[in-house]
Amino acid sequence: MGVKSAPSESAAATRIQRSVLVFGGSFDPVHNGHVALVQHFTKLLKVDEVRLVPAGQPWQKAGLKASAEQRIKMLELAFDGQLSVPYSIDQQEVERAATQIPSYTVDTLTNMRSQWGNAQLNEEIALILLIGADQFHNFATWKNWQQIFKLAHIVVAARPGYSLQLDTLPSEFAALWQQANGAIEDLKQCSFGKTWLETDLAWDISATRIRDELQQQGQTKETTSLIPRKVLDYLQVHHIYN
Ligand code: ATP
Repeated sequence: MGVKSAPSESAAATRIQRSVLVFGGSFDPVHNGHVALVQHFTKLLKVDEVRLVPAGQPWQKAGLKASAEQRIKMLELAFDGQLSVPYSIDQQEVERAATQIPSYTVDTLTNMRSQWGNAQLNEEIALILLIGADQFHNFATWKNWQQIFKLAHIVVAARPGYSLQLDTLPSEFAALWQQANGAIEDLKQCSFGKTWLETDLAWDISATRIRDELQQQGQTKETTSLIPRKVLDYLQVHHIYN
């Protein structure tokens, strides 16, 4: 009779049946940087599915210009035909905001996991939360941010103007981050709790800047190069920002 061995690293790896990339934002408006980011990480992390999560009522940002319906429509137009894996627009944060319940990422991820219910199924699905470097800086102000490390992996995209240095961040966050940070392959070994900093990105695109330029100058050569074509057509009809 053979001797039973403890589960090996590779056994753990095969437990992950599916990885889901979660990408939230105001998307006011969605821009080419958003699409490029999701395409980049879909390929890099070989994810099986993408969930785009428009924010309902971001508590750290002043009011949004576009309505939830308009932001959802722009997301649909921007991502149409752009991804090589199935994706969906998860409207839970918008729905919570409609009933005056603030939207927090920790609740969104908890809801995703509770939809799968079954503990074993949850162990088989890796959730990967994608954020930009600006959000990395704010992370330790998010509701129950420590809990997010127990729900998902966290990957950060570098962004011009935002450092990725941990020594400028709150020490509890920096320590937890460091402990979770390893090789990119680690994100395929377990279903949550690993982190990755993607330092080589430098897309200088921001929704705030696009909004300001559209408002002041309308669609210029500069802004049209930053927004997906179908979204531009939609904006030309709906004049959300000018
Ligand atoms: P704003 O200019 O108002 O901050 P934004 O361009 O960051 O808007 P959001 O919808 O708030 O757009 O962003 C959604 C997510 O995408 C956030 O995690 C943000 O950090 C990330 N992100 C957006 N643009 C970039 C970029 N150019 N490089 C890296 N991350 C980005």
